[in-house]
Amino acid sequence: MIRYTCDRCKRDIDPSTDLRYIVTVEIEAAGEADVTDLVDEVDHLEELQEMLQASDEICAAVFDDDLYQRKQFDLCKCCFQQYIRNPLARDTSAAMGYSKN
Ligand SMILES: [Zn+2]
Repeated sequence: MIRYTCDRCKRDIDPSTDLRYIVTVEIEAAGEADVTDLVDEVDHLEELQEMLQASDEICAAVFDDDLYQRKQFDLCKCCFQQYIRNPLARDTSAAMGYSKN
């Protein structure tokens, strides 16, 4: 039997009794700049790369994450309901009327 775990609260999701919500987050860099221009900026990472003694692969992976990321999460019903109210994880304390005084 396939078991799922909520990626937010780590609760087991039993597919026979619980609804499982799949949240797919796709982030794509958008702009007027030519992507080849952006690639040239990788040169600026070389100093950092030497400092970290990182491989070219790690450097490229960091750069790719800047342009495109796709993530998928399993959520239980409870976490889905909380997620959908605040999908960008904004600080809601101000909206709730709390102050820092
Ligand atoms: Zn959950």
